[in-house]
Amino acid sequence: MGGGQSRRGKPGKRRAVPAHRRRAAPKPARGAMVGLNLRIGHGYDLHRLEAAGPGRLLRIGGVVFASDVAAVGHSDSDALLHAITDAVLGALALPDIGQLFPDTDERWRGADSAVFLGEALRLATDAGWRVGNVDATVVLERPKIGERKDEVRASVARILKIEAGRVNVKGKTHERVDAVGEGRAIEAHAVVLLVRE
Ligand code: MG
Repeated sequence: MGGGQSRRGKPGKRRAVPAHRRRAAPKPARGAMVGLNLRIGHGYDLHRLEAAGPGRLLRIGGVVFASDVAAVGHSDSDALLHAITDAVLGALALPDIGQLFPDTDERWRGADSAVFLGEALRLATDAGWRVGNVDATVVLERPKIGERKDEVRASVARILKIEAGRVNVKGKTHERVDAVGEGRAIEAHAVVLLVRE
């Protein structure tokens, strides 16, 4: 039995490898994301606005807004949650929300968009990522979201299972220009940072 064997498995007692025997670390392939512990994703969405009514309410980030118009679409048409969902999926380089939850699938008719974001979060978590922060902008002529921004932030944070301080939501108008500015559509932009667990 060699003397070295008895020391095996004891951390801190390994014999140093002489410099001439040390192997150089293999060179990373060109473009390889070695040691990258962050991923960024971007999402965008737009929905047409039409008269609100029973079963058609304006939802922004999971919060219902009192409004005479509401977004039209296959699900509950929450443009902000859709943009954030696409940002998470984009950071993971996965297919987008329209591919994962096609509007030809009856399962998603009138669906709560929190389900889509929850699924994107599950995919991120399963792949070893957590949400670092979210920054989003909602472009809407009316109603103004300003007064209820904190509610929207808290709602998004709840769906993402993070604290509200990691979610930012800005409200803007489109200066009465084009469809969004004429109050015929709502637009949302989002950026999400994922951090390696
Ligand atoms: Mg959408």
